[in-house]
Amino acid sequence: MKRGALKVMFVASEAFPLVKTGGLGDVVYSLPHALHDRGADIRLVLPGYRALLRQLDQVRILGWLDVRGAEGIVSARILETRHPDFAFPLWVVDCPPLFDRAGNPYVNAGGQDWPDNAERFAVFARVAALLAQDALDIGWQPAVVHTHDWQTGLVSAFLADQPQRPKTVFTIHNLAYGGHFSHTDFVRLQLPSPWWSPEGVEFHGGFSMLKAGIVYADAVTTVSPTYAAEICTPAFGFGLDGLLLSRQHKLHGILNGIDTRIWNPSTDPHLPAHYSMSRILPGKRRNKQALLERFLPHADDAAMQAPLLGLVGRLVEQKGVDWVLAAIPVLLAETDARVVLLGSGQAVYEQKLTRLARQHPDRVFVVIGYDEPLAHQIEAGADLFLMPSRFEPCGLNQMYSLRYGTPPVVFKTGGLADTVVDATATTLDDASATGFVFDTPDVHAFLLAIHRALELYRQPTQWRRLQQTGMRQSFDWSDSAGHYLALYSL
Ligand code: ADP
Repeated sequence: MKRGALKVMFVASEAFPLVKTGGLGDVVYSLPHALHDRGADIRLVLPGYRALLRQLDQVRILGWLDVRGAEGIVSARILETRHPDFAFPLWVVDCPPLFDRAGNPYVNAGGQDWPDNAERFAVFARVAALLAQDALDIGWQPAVVHTHDWQTGLVSAFLADQPQRPKTVFTIHNLAYGGHFSHTDFVRLQLPSPWWSPEGVEFHGGFSMLKAGIVYADAVTTVSPTYAAEICTPAFGFGLDGLLLSRQHKLHGILNGIDTRIWNPSTDPHLPAHYSMSRILPGKRRNKQALLERFLPHADDAAMQAPLLGLVGRLVEQKGVDWVLAAIPVLLAETDARVVLLGSGQAVYEQKLTRLARQHPDRVFVVIGYDEPLAHQIEAGADLFLMPSRFEPCGLNQMYSLRYGTPPVVFKTGGLADTVVDATATTLDDASATGFVFDTPDVHAFLLAIHRALELYRQPTQWRRLQQTGMRQSFDWSDSAGHYLALYSL
C-alpha cells in the first residue's frame, strides 16, 4: 500500500462471500475492492457471526474494547484476518453473546427479528466508532468511515461530536428497513439523551438507527440517482421523505456497479457452458438445457423452443411477488412459457409458489432457499428475467441478467429505471434497447410487458441484438468508485 493512501474504514453487517443475505453483501464486497484497486487503504469491519468466524483461518487479536450494552458493559475482542477472497484486512468484532449464534444475521429460524437486535447493532456501532478513532492504538486512523444501512446508522452519531474525527459517509441500500426500536431500548442502551428528539433519532415514539445515519453522517448516499429522488417523496420515503428532502444538499445517488469478475458468463465456474457477446447461442442453449433438465427428466425440443422465464430474489412484497403469482396462471394459459424461480422470504409467498409448482410440475419450477450457484444458472439459462419490483434502490439482478444475455422485465423505478432501456420501435432501431419496462404498477402492465417480450423472442435477429446490447453495458465499478472517491475528498 502506497504511503499517503486514503484510509477508508468500511463498516457493514454483511459481505459476500462470508455472509450475504442480499445486494448489500455484494456491494460491501465489490465496492471496497474497486476502491482498493484505485489506491485506497481499506479495512472492513464486520460482526463476528458464527458462520463468519467458521470461515476464518488465521486471526490476530488486535485487542479488546469494552462498551455499554443493554445490561451493562459488553466486551468485544477485535480480530484481524487476511481472508483469501479479500485484498485488504478484515476486522471482526467478536462478541459471542451477541453474534455467536446459528442462522441469519438479522432474524431467527422462524423469520422473526432477533429480540436483541438493538443491542447487537448498538454495540457493533460503538465498537466501530472506537476503532475509527484508533482506540486500540494500532496506528491506523481512517480519513473516512463508510457505513451501510440501519445496522451501522449509529456509527456516525457516535462520531459526530468527537474531536478530530474522520469524515462519515452513510449509504442507504434500502430505506424500507429502518432499524426501529423502542424508547425502552434507547434507555437501556444508555444512548445519549440529546439524540432523543425529532431532530435526532426519535421516530414515531421509538428511535430509528437508519434515521441516525441520515441525520449525523456528513454525507448520505443511496444506490441510484432515481432512488435518491424517489426517497424524498411520500410514496417512497417511509416517513423519512421530509428529513431526506431537508438533507438533499448532502444526499447523493450513486449507481451500484457489479463485480464483473464474479458475474461473467464467459468464465463463471457455476455454469455448465460459457458464452460471450460475440457467440451467445451454443453456450446459452446448453445452460438452458441443463437448467431445464434439473426439473424435467427429459427436456425435449419443444421445451427448448419455449421461452423460459427466470426470477431470483427475496420473496417479499417489494419484489412484486404478488404480481408474479397473479401473472403465472395467465401465462400458462395463454403462452407456452415456463417459469423457474429461486427465492426465500415471506412464508405466504413461499407456500403459494410451491403450490403453483406442484399444480404445474412441468411448467413451473420453484426452489425455496438460498442457492448461489443456482442463481447464476438461472441468470444464464433463462431467456427472460423477471424483476417487477414495486421499488428498487438499485437492484443487482437486472444488471446480472443483462450481462448474461437474459433481457429483464422491470417496473420503472429506482435503479431499474436507471439501468434498463425499454424495447420500443425507436430503441430497437437505434440499438439502445436492453429489456422491457412497464410504468404502471399493476399486473396488467406487467403482463403486457411480458407479452411484448415474448413477441420479440420469436424474432431471433432482433432478440440477439437486444441480448448483445444488454451484454455490452458496462456496469463495472469504475464510474461509481470514482464518484465515491470524489465524495470522500469533498
Ligand atoms: P436485494 O438487495 O433487495 O435483495 P438485489 O437485486 O440488489 O436485491 O440483490 C440480490 C442479490 O442476492 C443478488 O446477488 C442475488 O443473486 C442474490 N439472491 C437473492 N435471493 C437469492 C437466493 N434465493 N439464492 C441465491 N442468491 C440470491
